[in-house]
Amino acid sequence: MTDWLARATAFTPPSTLLIDGAEVTPGTTMPAHTPRDGSLLGDVPFAGPAEVDAAVAAARRAVDDGRWAQLAPAARKAVLLRFAALVREHAEELALAETLDTGKPIRESLAVDVPTCADVLAWYGEAVDKHYDLVAPTGPGSLATITRRPLGVVAAVVPWNYPLIITAWKIAPALAVGNSVIVKPAEQSPSSALILARLGAEAGLPDGVLSVLSGDGPTTGAALGRHPGIDKIGFTGSVEVGRLFHRYSGESNGKAVAVEAGGKSAQVVLGDADLDAAASAIAWGIFYNAGQTCHAGSRVVVDRSVHDELLGRVVDLAKTFTVGDPLDGDTVLGAIVDRTQLDRVTGYLDLARSSVDVAFGGSVLEPVAGGTYVEPTVLSGVPNSSPLAQEEIFGPVLSVIACDGPDEAVALANDTRFELAASVWTRDLTTAHRAADALRAGTVWVNTYDAASVTTPFGGGGDTGGGRDRSLAALDAYSAPKTTWFAL
Ligand code: NAD
Repeated sequence: MTDWLARATAFTPPSTLLIDGAEVTPGTTMPAHTPRDGSLLGDVPFAGPAEVDAAVAAARRAVDDGRWAQLAPAARKAVLLRFAALVREHAEELALAETLDTGKPIRESLAVDVPTCADVLAWYGEAVDKHYDLVAPTGPGSLATITRRPLGVVAAVVPWNYPLIITAWKIAPALAVGNSVIVKPAEQSPSSALILARLGAEAGLPDGVLSVLSGDGPTTGAALGRHPGIDKIGFTGSVEVGRLFHRYSGESNGKAVAVEAGGKSAQVVLGDADLDAAASAIAWGIFYNAGQTCHAGSRVVVDRSVHDELLGRVVDLAKTFTVGDPLDGDTVLGAIVDRTQLDRVTGYLDLARSSVDVAFGGSVLEPVAGGTYVEPTVLSGVPNSSPLAQEEIFGPVLSVIACDGPDEAVALANDTRFELAASVWTRDLTTAHRAADALRAGTVWVNTYDAASVTTPFGGGGDTGGGRDRSLAALDAYSAPKTTWFAL
């Protein structure tokens, strides 16, 4: 059994950046704290404009001389598979970094975040030498080939809630098609990405092909967004910052920008639903990762005929999500990522106490002194127009809304500015099909929630932004078609 507490005491986040294959110590650092107990983990490098320029220049040199894109596909595949294998070999180190940075339970980091990161790298690695280009049907007098070419230099700007997984969703397809990639992790969670950069180099990624620049949003993120040497930004984070990246692009080189932002996803429970299955999926859908999930099922829209029954079951389950030390292998509900986020959640809890019924929870807890934790919370009698039903709380807070019949249920579920995910729970096949079709969301689950696979696209519309990660479509998102005509 790993003694995580002892490992945590010895942990220090990486202190250098890897740029162009060299360890770089920038002039500035930033403190990294853990939400587990608020303590200082150490200082991490802060990439300023000089480091951003250096990383972009190195990435561009790699694009220009083709040291990565021009390798045989089987050779690029081998590097990505080695990268995936190294992630698995370093599973405990990466999981500890992820848990200390974010406060998520160590068992989740080990069972989900690290293996998913490795799986995604391997899946896109495997795709490299199975991807065929096209010949257009132009007729016998000519030949027109359509080949996919890398975009060049891609930057991945990622949030703190799933640092390893979201980083992998972006770097794996971008590297697979031959781009150079620069990752900008969130200021709350730089460690795992800094470790990944070293594992990528050890796996054989040529110098300059993968850089990780820890720093903050307004300096490091904006410098990437405005950089004329970057061809595409893959962004996951808040709606507001996503819009900033569109603005940066317009004010610089018109680089492509793909945004994946938040959600206020509804689980629709109809009168004939399997309430046991629905209640369990509802509890996991909102309490997993302490609700800090973009597609958290943060609203339940439930038919009045089963409202009280479902609410009782969800409250019973909420009681079993014990908030605890993320380093304890039994903990399922860990910390909120930082004090700013805790204040945001408690602001909504104050609003809840004054405007709706708090069926369970609602308190700030401190299972580890100095840490930032919130009790699983179930709110009922929430009007869909309330900020509690419209705004992303990003905490373990569920809003339950009553409705009458499938039509009103779908209308309420769709009454949101986001279009990320939704579910419908019913035993009636026709109702399931109709509701799944009518729900406006990038992903709809029927009688399940949060089923996920790298083989399926993930993203949405509306304020969620139109970007998609995962599936073979991501290979197209990080490449452009090139048409070549031959006169015959
Ligand atoms: P955020 O937008 O504050 O930060 C995301 C990234 O943008 C970070 O790397 C940050 O440093 C950078 N950034 C912040 N301000 C910037 C600026 N002014 N200029 C340039 N870069 C800047 O988001 P967050 O708080 O880290 O993450 C939470 C949000 O992410 C939530 O809204 C959540 O729904 C969303 N999210 C979406 C998905 C998805 O796939 N749709 C997945 C996870 C998280």
